[in-house]
Amino acid sequence: MSRGAAALEALRAVARDPRSHIEAWRSAHPEGKVLGVLPMNFPRELAHAAGVMAVIVPDDQQPVTEGRAFLPEFYCGYTRNLADQAATGRFDQYDGLFVADHCIQLLGSADVVRALEPDRRVFLGQLISSLSDSWAGQKTAQMMSLLRTEVESFAGTTIDDDALRASIASFNRDRDLMRQIFDARAGGDVSYSPVDLQDIVASAQIMDPDEHHALLSDVVAERQFLPRDERIRVHLSGHLCHAPRRELLEVIEEVGAVIVDDDLWTGRRYLQAGMDESLAPMDALAKWYAGRNTALPCPTRVQHDVDWDAWLLDAVKRSDAEAVVHLMPKFCEPHMLFYPELRRALDEAGVPQLLIETEHEGIPLESFRTRLEALIERTHRNRPAYA
Ligand code: SF4
Repeated sequence: MSRGAAALEALRAVARDPRSHIEAWRSAHPEGKVLGVLPMNFPRELAHAAGVMAVIVPDDQQPVTEGRAFLPEFYCGYTRNLADQAATGRFDQYDGLFVADHCIQLLGSADVVRALEPDRRVFLGQLISSLSDSWAGQKTAQMMSLLRTEVESFAGTTIDDDALRASIASFNRDRDLMRQIFDARAGGDVSYSPVDLQDIVASAQIMDPDEHHALLSDVVAERQFLPRDERIRVHLSGHLCHAPRRELLEVIEEVGAVIVDDDLWTGRRYLQAGMDESLAPMDALAKWYAGRNTALPCPTRVQHDVDWDAWLLDAVKRSDAEAVVHLMPKFCEPHMLFYPELRRALDEAGVPQLLIETEHEGIPLESFRTRLEALIERTHRNRPAYA
């Protein structure tokens, strides 16, 4: 196996079995602490600078069993999976849980962890979600400062500004490299499959950024540009907080589409915004948070001059996508509330689209296949006759 293929295999292994990776880290750092953080805005740089392994808690894709008792069935699959991880002891790999976001379902799942795991530290320190308010900058800076204090207390150490600067640079470098791959895909390179890209980003959400960057550099060093063929070019949109099932990504390409860009959490949404290394580190954290919603708008934030629908139309133009597939986790309220805006904007622009609601358990793949085939057929009819 070549060095690049082995590196991709290593990233894939972490993405698909984070528990083993965390256990290996613990063996290598017997005094170290592992902090679980919930998506999508916690600045892991703070924990990294304190010597803590910060993991964005993934949906471990196990069926929800005992966790059913703790959250209503109409909570999204990700939050019910988190409750189940806590209810069945699978949360034991984390020494604590920090949350910086606002989704009501996410907060509910953190409360379940707090109730079921009283020995683990759970901290809710929410970053302001109303970004157009005149006090947003001040509130963000205050919360970043509080998060720093809480991380220091969790780690039992203080965070040195130089260490924080170095952590910011490490995460930036890793995000930059991933962004280059995503930009190359939007520009016509299809050498990475959507499943490869998901594994690359999902592993970044778990690993140390330097370790991830070293492996990803090996992967990138061996890649050759592979131009698009005549398949229908599709933008994938949505799926906040957790990864869609790999089978779903595969079936989209099996029916005659090629995914050219996305705004998924385990995709471009994670890596779109970097931090400004020329600023004082705490200012860089605050500016990063304020700029994330402009770099790629999120339906969990409110900002009057920024819209996900406008961003999506621009992204479709940039990548020359011909159709959009919305992947919406069932009961994801922020996505459900924003979806009509997305639908209207794409309809007005004449972009064919399809909404697929994803379930946590049981994926009706054949039904999805039929609906995707219909979308591809419809989109083909949009192509000029000479194409
Ligand atoms: S934003 Fe959506 S996917 Fe994320 S926790 Fe909230 S409901 Fe679940």
